[in-house]
Amino acid sequence: MKQYLQYIDGAWVQPDSGAWIDSTDPYRGETWARIARGNATDAERAVSAAHRAMTQGPWSTMTASERGRVLRRVGDAITEHAQTLIETEVRDNGKLLAEVTGQMKAVAECWYYYAGLADKIEGSSIPLEKANSVAFTRREPVGVVAALTAWNSPLWFATVKAAPAMAAGCAVVVKPSEYASASTLELAELLAGAGVPAGVFNVVTGLGPDVGAPLVEHPDVAKIAFTGSDTTGAKLYETAARGVKRVSLELGGKSPNIVFEDADLDLAAVGVVSGIFGAGGQMCAAGSRLLVHSSVKEEFLAKVVELAKGIRLGDPMDPDTNVGPISTRAQYEKVLHYLGVAEQDGARRILGGSPATGPGLTGGQFVEPTIFTDVTNDMRIAQEEVFGPILCVLDFDDEEEAVRIANDIPYGLVAGVWTRGIGRAMRMSKALNVGSVWVNTYRTYSYMVPFGGMKRSGLGREHGVEAVDAYLETKSVVLSTDDDAPANAFVMR
Ligand code: NAD
Repeated sequence: MKQYLQYIDGAWVQPDSGAWIDSTDPYRGETWARIARGNATDAERAVSAAHRAMTQGPWSTMTASERGRVLRRVGDAITEHAQTLIETEVRDNGKLLAEVTGQMKAVAECWYYYAGLADKIEGSSIPLEKANSVAFTRREPVGVVAALTAWNSPLWFATVKAAPAMAAGCAVVVKPSEYASASTLELAELLAGAGVPAGVFNVVTGLGPDVGAPLVEHPDVAKIAFTGSDTTGAKLYETAARGVKRVSLELGGKSPNIVFEDADLDLAAVGVVSGIFGAGGQMCAAGSRLLVHSSVKEEFLAKVVELAKGIRLGDPMDPDTNVGPISTRAQYEKVLHYLGVAEQDGARRILGGSPATGPGLTGGQFVEPTIFTDVTNDMRIAQEEVFGPILCVLDFDDEEEAVRIANDIPYGLVAGVWTRGIGRAMRMSKALNVGSVWVNTYRTYSYMVPFGGMKRSGLGREHGVEAVDAYLETKSVVLSTDDDAPANAFVMR
């Protein structure tokens, strides 16, 4: 069994507590590794190392181009060692090998992207209304960043935080989920090999309240970048507010896939099925609400059910598997609970609805792809995030009603719109209260395109050029060019 230490100040460190947490392979149901159970002392060590790295160099004294070169080497190291990272992640969270393989390419590309951005972070010169003065802005790193991440895509979440933060000149302490920490620790090793100086990238592991909360509270942490549930996110936001810290939150969703009568229904059916059942629905952007025009509802549902029936559950390492296990026991129980909630509220199950068993489903954490109709938007199954393979179906009669149902929810992460009408696509993309609209496609993420939520789905944006702004402060400098009569000199007379 593998044992993972924490990575602090360029060294592998035993947990102060002397305690460990088992990491379970959700497909086999076996413990395959153990990770350190960090605590406040470990958090303190990591933050001091990061603070030192930012204040005493060499990170702070490197040129931006040099920092960019280091980030580029990180991308190379990930490309070279991708297979190890992929297999580690699949063992830890049960995501499909094929999916993680694609994601790992994007992880490496994301490091290259922010490597290229590092020396293009510029302040600006400001034309002043005052004579004999000049003004300009400097963009400075915000300070030490605490990056807290969820279990469903650990390396992706760590990368979309650490890469722009490091491009901006920040040092980072990552706290991955206790359910899937191993790949982030493997990444730390690659960063060390790529020449990232000690203290610039640290990883502490353990439970949120034990080691995550002390990071958020630490006075030397300037910025919290969080991916996780809205409940935890709101709690961290409150704590961070006491220290007036900068916060970005990537939280949950209950996203609509909206299918109009003029859509290519075959294409839309593929998008809807993979949008909810891909990764077993364990994704923030899961298209868990299908809103379909009433005139095509029956025809479209028949296509969706037909496709969903063909889903092969099984070993995530097997290239023929479409959907792997539910990642954690707690999540599995939560999904089963919501199956009961939907039925109690009067939703009608037209597919699935039970734990999936049978040959090849050895670990036991499988749930059948499930579809509920007769859903109204006030039902819990239509309003609450399940984070599992449950699709609920609602219908609408016109665009206005589709928008009203789509927006009548506390979340606002993404929406899918399926239509052949360009005008309709444009109107919908404006009317939907979500951070991303995907038209005639779904789950089309890119590290180049801003991503984040409105309402209870989050705060701030990751990915793209603007992500780096979250790791920068703007400092204004105003200079008098008149040596004899500085502006405002009358105050002294
Ligand atoms: P979670 O909120 O339980 O945990 C997220 C992280 O916060 C973990 O590292 C956890 O240890 C830590 N944490 C928990 N309590 C803490 C505390 N009191 N103080 C500090 N840290 C604490 O979320 P999860 O179950 O790991 O992830 C699933 C959730 O994440 C879902 O709601 C999903 O929608 C959301 N998510 C959002 C996005 C996005 O980009 N918007 C992406 C993936 C997942």
